[in-house]
Amino acid sequence: MINPEGRMENNDNKDFDREKVTEELYRRFSKRGLWRLRTRRFIRGVTWVFVVQLLAGAKRLLDFLLSLFLLLILWPILLLSYFIPGTTLKRTPRVGRWCVTFNEFSFETSGGFAGRILAGLRLKRLPVLINILKGDISFIGPRTVSPGDLSPREKAARKRYNVRPGLISLWWIRRRANIDYTSEAEVDGEYVETQSVWGDFGIALRAIPSILYGEGVATAPDLITILGTPINNVTMSETIETIIKWLNEDSRSQICFVNADCANIAYRNKAYLEVLRTARFSLADGIGLKLAGKLLAREVKQNVNGTDLFPLLCEALSGTGKGLFLLGARPEVPESVRDWIKKNYPGVIVSGCHHGYFSPEEEPEVISQIARSGADLLLTAFGAPRQDTWINDHLRETGVKVAMGVGGLFDFYSGKTARAPQWMREMGMEWLYRFTQEPGRLWKRYFVGNGVFLYRVMLEKFRPAHFQPSEQKEED
Ligand code: UDP
Repeated sequence: MINPEGRMENNDNKDFDREKVTEELYRRFSKRGLWRLRTRRFIRGVTWVFVVQLLAGAKRLLDFLLSLFLLLILWPILLLSYFIPGTTLKRTPRVGRWCVTFNEFSFETSGGFAGRILAGLRLKRLPVLINILKGDISFIGPRTVSPGDLSPREKAARKRYNVRPGLISLWWIRRRANIDYTSEAEVDGEYVETQSVWGDFGIALRAIPSILYGEGVATAPDLITILGTPINNVTMSETIETIIKWLNEDSRSQICFVNADCANIAYRNKAYLEVLRTARFSLADGIGLKLAGKLLAREVKQNVNGTDLFPLLCEALSGTGKGLFLLGARPEVPESVRDWIKKNYPGVIVSGCHHGYFSPEEEPEVISQIARSGADLLLTAFGAPRQDTWINDHLRETGVKVAMGVGGLFDFYSGKTARAPQWMREMGMEWLYRFTQEPGRLWKRYFVGNGVFLYRVMLEKFRPAHFQPSEQKEED
């Protein structure tokens, strides 16, 4: 502020109390003050170590009590299994906490009726309860590893050797839910950093649906069909690699994401089914497809959905010089996604964007805008099946190399719609979260649609002759 004499007046100095400040400085930096500060820091450090140890102790106590309880209930089975002819107690060397080697117990059966029962009832790993009781393993923790599997010299592996390995791990859950996109070492690191008693309790709960989903698979046929819809059975990283490859080719490719709702639509809509058949890639999106694959003994390798693929794709596109066009969603939503890309992946070129609420009269101008932008990759978000049939009709005119229908993706990355938390995705319950956001629109899709989808899958399983794509009806 300028005073009448034209000098600057500093209002902040009005309340300046020299004595008070000197007193405060003395309090802090005198010998006594510094000693007090160090003591306080020391007490805080000791308390922290104590709390961490207490929590670790609580976890160990829970492991001990629960394994003891289970052993007390199950000891007759354990004893009986031990004496079944052809069954031996197997000792597998493992590396535990602080890299200490121990033997993990399990039953080994050499066939026979009793052995088959033991395997069928999944009791072969029952003796691991002894390891938990002894403290070699926890119920929850990073996966148990064999000597030589994972060197403690690797930076990412170091953290996991600070805790006991677990019977159930976060990686195990993600693998079963088909969302194991990052490496196991990274997931272990995440577990160790965020570990808590409540977190472990959550993992134990999430393990229940995971048992239903079965184990993840690494090898399976590259092409499978579900309800007559062809699915390119590839992983997320294979998809990204392929997109980048196609962007450098002299061809035009369409990619579709197929979830349970899409498969239901394709069952009744021949034109849409044809689009999925002619697309260069139709990818298995969501837990519905994973379950269907399991029921039909055509295992789906990974859940490849647009929303999880997007940041990985941006990462791969960074610095390649390939342009991205964002088409779809409400006005201003694609612009917000463009801002998100600029902030998080500045190396990605966004060639242009346009909302998805244009009239048929405006369509030629939208197509021409995409062509003029020189974009290589087009993301179209109108919802299925319209986005996919639209791409099929206009791919050539847009001039892009690769185009894919991405549903509600822009709504998520613009912040318009919240995505389900990670723990819900690990349980395969993302659809339930989406339902709570738009119950009026989505109740039929999820509560009726999912049931109809599973019914059709069972029909395909038990009466494959009854299910013929040629018998499908046109959408009414
Ligand atoms: N949408 C659009 N134009 C339309 C109708 C819908 O751009 O005429 C957008 C809508 O705003 C939303 C997306 O298409 O962003 C569809 O989302 P939905 O949740 O239905 O897609 P899903 O992922 O379920 O296929």
